[in-house]
Amino acid sequence: MTQITLHNTATRRKELFQPIDEANVRMYVCGPTVYDRAHLGNARPVVVFDVLFRLLRFVFGESHVAYVRNFTDVDDKINARAAETGRSIRQITNETSQWYLDDMGALGTLTPTHMPRATEWIAPMVSMIEGLIDRDHAYEAEGHVLFRVRSYKEYGALSGRSVDDMIAGARVEVAPYKEDPMDFVLWKPSDAETPGWDSPWGRGRPGWHIECSAMSYELLGEAFDIHGGGNDLQFPHHENEIAQSRCMGHGFAKVWLHNEMLQVEGKKMSKSLGNFFTVRDLLDQGVSGAVIRFVFLQTHYRKPMDWTEKKRAEAETTLRKWAKASSGVTPAADVDEGVLIALSDDLNTAGAIARLHALFGNDDIPHLLSALNLMGIDLNDSAGDGNAPEGVSKLIEALLVDRAQARQNRDFARADLLRDGFVAAGVLVKDTKDGAEWELTSNFDLTKLEALK
Ligand code: AMP
Ligand code: ZN
Repeated sequence: MTQITLHNTATRRKELFQPIDEANVRMYVCGPTVYDRAHLGNARPVVVFDVLFRLLRFVFGESHVAYVRNFTDVDDKINARAAETGRSIRQITNETSQWYLDDMGALGTLTPTHMPRATEWIAPMVSMIEGLIDRDHAYEAEGHVLFRVRSYKEYGALSGRSVDDMIAGARVEVAPYKEDPMDFVLWKPSDAETPGWDSPWGRGRPGWHIECSAMSYELLGEAFDIHGGGNDLQFPHHENEIAQSRCMGHGFAKVWLHNEMLQVEGKKMSKSLGNFFTVRDLLDQGVSGAVIRFVFLQTHYRKPMDWTEKKRAEAETTLRKWAKASSGVTPAADVDEGVLIALSDDLNTAGAIARLHALFGNDDIPHLLSALNLMGIDLNDSAGDGNAPEGVSKLIEALLVDRAQARQNRDFARADLLRDGFVAAGVLVKDTKDGAEWELTSNFDLTKLEALK
């Protein structure tokens, strides 16, 4: 059997993966808060853990792997969106969850085994909170229930930091009803306008962290194999999940995996920074899901990565070339050893892709195809038509009109600026007797092109 090694955040080492039960391999990944379209960064964990899900299914058998990814459908951001738009919370969360499934499906991801919505699991959350109060790890104060962080000695072990260091570095909310500023909310009161459920502490709603502890317990049991998410969730979300579950006497997750961030010019892509574009934006521009997936997998999940136009263009060229070579070819029944070795080595997807290039170079198209299947890369979705995405074509055409006008108006400064700008942006323009023709080179840079507007 293929041996898989995974880098465990909790031990900071690469470890041989040994499931608790090979017949029931279990993985939990924190899912989205559903109030808006997923941005490209949100898609990175989805693709990374989809590759792991596929690898586990390949090694242990499809029916022996359970993958849970939740929907957070109770959250103050959702309440705010409902208040802004006058729409109901349920309309917003239903619509956004479906968008998420459509957009992530377009990236070739398999549907997880279970996709629990937090609002359907309130009772198990309430009973876990009661258990924590019984065990003196939580206390009620002014309609809130708070987790007593100092009662869990190993708090911070996942990130290897002490509670005091974390307080110093974090924006912890000080509130009069807290025993300690570090204590976090398990339950909070709801007013008449806010969604709420009856509980021993009055009408209210759960804090965010408790949902993952409660739903993983219900669906995967008190101990399971893998817990994943972006490394921005390590603290406080994952530290809090561990504290809650361990204080209930649960073993919880054995192996912790965290993907690094998708960045824009060195900064994490995020809603709050405003430096984001959505997966749907890219799909609408004509970038295929397979191309997005291929670009992601070229970078190892524990390294930060940027999305660039150049990577997009190169991925498109590669996948188009492979699609052309594979027409009429049947995939091999087995998977190339080199690809498996790379994927099993802490999901070395970059190494696996290097091997795909080698298989193509050796004319071994059947094994190229079986490896692509394992990695979820669909060549039928990759090809595009050889043209630039529609938005890019329109922009170039508009700039060419602009250049023609500048020439006509004898505005040579503007015309020269556009000519040099095309070169710098990696757009090759040829003036022919029938007008200007253009093509994108591998240096194409959308940001530079947009700066010419
Ligand atoms: P959120 O809805 O912000 O809680 O994020 C959902 C998932 O996307 C979490 O696993 C985050 O860690 C992940 N995530 C958010 N932003 C990024 C990013 N820029 N790069 C990679 N993963 C991200
Ligand atoms: Zn979680």
